[in-house]
Amino acid sequence: MDDEIARRHLADEHDRLARLRAALEDEHLHDEPEEDSSGELSHADQHPADAASDAFEREKEFSILEQVEAELAEVDRALERLDRGTYGRCDVCGEAIADDRLATVPAARLCVQHQGDAET
Ligand SMILES: [Zn+2]
Repeated sequence: MDDEIARRHLADEHDRLARLRAALEDEHLHDEPEEDSSGELSHADQHPADAASDAFEREKEFSILEQVEAELAEVDRALERLDRGTYGRCDVCGEAIADDRLATVPAARLCVQHQGDAET
């Protein structure tokens, strides 16, 4: 894969993830006033199951945010590898990662075979 194309893919991916992160963080910000406006009285009325599902929703959102931040870190590392000239090589076997795989997953660190091994 051409370095310039790879860099563009990574920049696009970085943009996409940064926007996603901003959107997720935005949702979290909007959570706060809602809680405040519900007040202490209605808070006492809240069914425990509702509170539990709220907590679950927040937990889920948080793990999505964590996932997005992890992916952003991967993209940053891929950009560093691009600068060092080691981009597009499998961490395990050192073989070149297929171009179509890099086009789909620009921050891929493993070839298809070793990614498969890592996931099973
Ligand atoms: Zn490999």
